[in-house]
Amino acid sequence: MSRINVMKPWFGAEEIAALEKVIESGWVAQGPQVAQFETRFAEAMDASFAVATSNCTTALHLALVVAGIRPGDDVVVPSFSFIATANAPTYVGARPVFADVDRATGNVTVDTIAAALTERTTAVIAVDQGGMPVDLDPIRALCDPRGIVVIEDSACGAGSTYHGAPVGAGAELTAWSFHPRKILTTGEGGMLTSSHQYWADRARRLREHSMSVSASARHESVLAPPEEYHEIGFNYRMTDLQAAVGIVQLGRLSEIVARRREIAATYAEALSDIDGIRLVSDPAWGASNFQSLWLEVTLEFPLTREQLLEHLAANEVSARRGIMASHRQPAYRDRDTGNADLAVTELLTDSTLILPVFHQMTASEIDQVIDSIREAAGTRIRRFSTAVRI
Ligand SMILES: *Cc1c(COP(=O)(O)O)cnc(C)c1O
Repeated sequence: MSRINVMKPWFGAEEIAALEKVIESGWVAQGPQVAQFETRFAEAMDASFAVATSNCTTALHLALVVAGIRPGDDVVVPSFSFIATANAPTYVGARPVFADVDRATGNVTVDTIAAALTERTTAVIAVDQGGMPVDLDPIRALCDPRGIVVIEDSACGAGSTYHGAPVGAGAELTAWSFHPRKILTTGEGGMLTSSHQYWADRARRLREHSMSVSASARHESVLAPPEEYHEIGFNYRMTDLQAAVGIVQLGRLSEIVARRREIAATYAEALSDIDGIRLVSDPAWGASNFQSLWLEVTLEFPLTREQLLEHLAANEVSARRGIMASHRQPAYRDRDTGNADLAVTELLTDSTLILPVFHQMTASEIDQVIDSIREAAGTRIRRFSTAVRI
């Protein structure tokens, strides 16, 4: 039995060839490859504008800056998310206010957001958690008339769809991640897409110290024009090395998503008769890329979530605890993060685990995961009958 990891990036010779070309060109920092990646990514996601960044966390930070979120503002975010979602508002001096999520999808809903709104709420970050499309239209219908900006954190969402369109299409601001744990990877990397040219242009300048002339424009001219710095910016650039890999990866997106959905369907069918576990599935309004295919372990299952993780590990299956609850982390525990009831967040974070799903996964690896879970499901029957006999 070989060890099965929860995720593996999928690379081929094309990524290596793309990197070679960039290295041979001598220009490895942000330049023509980044520009091309932005154009192609915007096309693929039905977005008007795309700005590449160093990662999704910096894309979220830029989103909040261009949306005008300031110290004293409240930003509603799910606690049930990677901690970067909550951290981003703190970078602009705002307060993250935690909203609960829906048990079926693990996503915020119009109701959980409404319950967390305050008089000071100026933005909401809605996450496509684990690739599961968030039901954004009702959230926009709640927030838009109140002047609350809705930012989509689609770190995990490339290739997922909402009402037939790519998630994030039409959103005012959407942040994406290219970390190896996500769907496409550039090592580290991120993207901010927007329907507003002014916001995209400002984010483009802010990621490069708010320089009036970009580094690549200065490189192209023999006598570089003088540059000015109109506001305090950041260095949140992606490199051309990363973007070249990203362009190739983007070409693999539909294949990656199709394979992940196939693996998810295989698990769902093979585990459908087992009581006490629930595998996350597509909502009525879209299709998930299953970036994180999670399983809820309920009280009817003979093992607890921790015991099931241990059982899987003993079978060389490296599953992972489910999505974290940010409000329980030391960084947030003693902060005022609002008064919303986070019962579903706590239930899901304690009772879910993420199953291995990656493009190159073989049939026998999938079987190894399924067999381990089925074996775990059978333990009560054996234990129970022994107990009865005694
Ligand atoms: C991974 C992740 C991020 C952070 O992405 P980076 O590219 O690592 O900065 C933010 N939000 C969510 C929901 C994530 O899963």
